[in-house]
Amino acid sequence: MPIRPENRARYPKDWKLRSYFVRFVRAGGRCEWCGAAHGEQHPVTGSKVVLTTAHVHDDRPEAPSPESRGTRGRSRPPPAGC
Ligand SMILES: [Zn+2]
Repeated sequence: MPIRPENRARYPKDWKLRSYFVRFVRAGGRCEWCGAAHGEQHPVTGSKVVLTTAHVHDDRPEAPSPESRGTRGRSRPPPAGC
């Protein structure tokens, strides 16, 4: 999900790298909720999965650690439960 312009200043300058690490190194390219694989067809919705980085334990974009974030598979429209 793109960063909204009004929130851009709240994200660290290396956000792209942090987001990549969470999605593809820590989570191995799979949704941490349902296991759907990035770029593949979602097993429930049939839509192409696009992983995003969610603020799970601390919803502030400026939260300092990758541990505060999770990876969720999103497709358009977002599947129920992910
Ligand atoms: Zn999922």
